[in-house]
Amino acid sequence: MKFSGKNVLVTGAASGIGKEIALTLAGYGLKVWVNYRSRPESADAIKTEIEANGGVAAVIGFDVADEEAFVEGIKTIVDSDGELSYLVNNAGITNDKLAIRMKKEDFTSVIDINLTSAFIGCREALKVMSKKRFGSVVNIASIVGETGNAGQVNYSASKGGLIAMSKSFALEGSARDVRFNTVTPGFIATEMTDKLSEDIKESYTSKIPLKRFGSPKDIAEAVAFLLSDSSSYITGEVLKVNGGMYM
Ligand code: NAP
Repeated sequence: MKFSGKNVLVTGAASGIGKEIALTLAGYGLKVWVNYRSRPESADAIKTEIEANGGVAAVIGFDVADEEAFVEGIKTIVDSDGELSYLVNNAGITNDKLAIRMKKEDFTSVIDINLTSAFIGCREALKVMSKKRFGSVVNIASIVGETGNAGQVNYSASKGGLIAMSKSFALEGSARDVRFNTVTPGFIATEMTDKLSEDIKESYTSKIPLKRFGSPKDIAEAVAFLLSDSSSYITGEVLKVNGGMYM
């Protein structure tokens, strides 16, 4: 895959899907800014791994839900590299419970981290990328933003909002050749899904036509495609990577 840009910021890149996205994009020759919130040592280890494989990486710590810190983080990158070519809004959390037991804070805290933070990232990226008339952003939503899910009214609302928001950003960015797309993973084997009980995992697996949870690499390659020049005529799209669970 060919990339005309040179650098990328991946949020929540110290573990799981974000880590794999960082490693994969570095393998395609991009300088990767590895964002972390609470695990600097994991982010440093990813930087070391990228460099050991001949790539270029930098670590940048901030909480994506902190607007000032996110804006400052992007400024640091642009001051250092002269541009931000690509952004992957990957950081996300769950806080599952049935709606009747869900407090307002359980709802708004998930919206803040999964949706409002991505708004900040998309907005700042659009400002920076517009100046170069080049850029591509991928937002990591979820299958449950398309289907809904019991126990996840907060999470599914955040991810459904992310899908709609990406399309709106795509409309605003297109005049400046800045693309916005969404990847909607199905069930992927990471710490987030490790929390599920074996019974629940088996019940989900039985509903996946490909009969397995996906791997972070499955998501990372889809993200790389949507950032790359190979997808230069694709914007506002939602790419499902879910083993056929929802078509
Ligand atoms: P994960 O292993 O729990 O990783 C999430 C990462 O996001 C962690 O490194 C976490 O850092 C970081 N993060 C959380 N809140 C943050 C904040 N406020 N600021 C900066 N970083 C923050 O989860 P994952 O499975 O890789 O999920 C990655 C993305 O894929 C999420 O958006 C998730 O919703 C989405 N997704 C996952 C699945 C799945 O099956 N795994 C399915 C659909 C969508 P800390 O450890 O420091 O909190």
